[in-house]
Amino acid sequence: MLQPEVKSKLGEDICIAIYLDNCKWNYIVDCGEASLLTVKDCMNARAIFISHTHIDHFINFDQIMRHQIGTKERYIICGPKNIAVQIQAKLRSFTWNLVEDDAVIYEIREIISENEITSYEMKPAHWELELVANRTTLYDDERVVVNFTILDHKTDVIAYHFKDKDSINIDVSKVTHKLGKWINELKLAYVAKEGDKIISFEEHQFKAKELFHYLKIERGNTLGIILDHASHKENHNKIKQLFKECDTVFIETFYKEEDKEKALINYHSYASQSGKIMFESKVKKAIPVHFSRKYTEEDIAQIKVDFTKAFQGEY
Ligand SMILES: [Zn+2]
Ligand SMILES: [Zn+2]
Repeated sequence: MLQPEVKSKLGEDICIAIYLDNCKWNYIVDCGEASLLTVKDCMNARAIFISHTHIDHFINFDQIMRHQIGTKERYIICGPKNIAVQIQAKLRSFTWNLVEDDAVIYEIREIISENEITSYEMKPAHWELELVANRTTLYDDERVVVNFTILDHKTDVIAYHFKDKDSINIDVSKVTHKLGKWINELKLAYVAKEGDKIISFEEHQFKAKELFHYLKIERGNTLGIILDHASHKENHNKIKQLFKECDTVFIETFYKEEDKEKALINYHSYASQSGKIMFESKVKKAIPVHFSRKYTEEDIAQIKVDFTKAFQGEY
């Protein structure tokens, strides 16, 4: 179960941590000022996902990195075009002569286009960018799969879609046969959708699909994080495609209704438009985030009212 938490207080920038139940690690999306982000959040962030590198989304990378140096862990950083040299520039702005070369490893996955990702590796002290590979998928580990789309904000902004993988367990109360390594084969056949695969144990032979009823499937939830984006049709079409029926989505709602002219000029979204696109995407739970810092608490309360109205289909 993906459990996201906004780590920026009101008046700060944007940073979201994502936790999983029964999991040692977490993820971070964007590195804006965030006083609720803990040292542990930074050390355990197996991957950092950056939407874009406007200062309000990237300023706190140094602080996060500060807590990762010395862990000897490998951290993955995903982000838009040029992210690799931008991370390199940040790292190279410090002096590293007393740090061992295995103090940390960064793997940067730079999203060039919707189906082209280049990955690099970097280590202290020189932080050379070493090309690892070209990839077509962004991120996949034991627990989550992350997909993305590229939105327009007069620069590329990556919107991320997280899926907690379904958990597949055996329902021992239903199984009348002796448990054995066939259980694992059955799970693998289920994941690979190979219903006709022959599973053999004791003196039996079954097609996998005849045994699928022994499995207990718990569906993993989905989470979308959509940050700065211009409120126009092309972006909205991409949002509808990737985030359709998503369980929870956090969406940028930088401007209030009466400032929508500013939203158009600055390639941002605004209250009713963010709510409307969430309604049209049939998202189950939508949460507006990342408000202009000049707004008062009352302004933000009003943004939430206008957003919710549109999300309920009143626009
Ligand atoms: Zn921005
Ligand atoms: Zn922003």
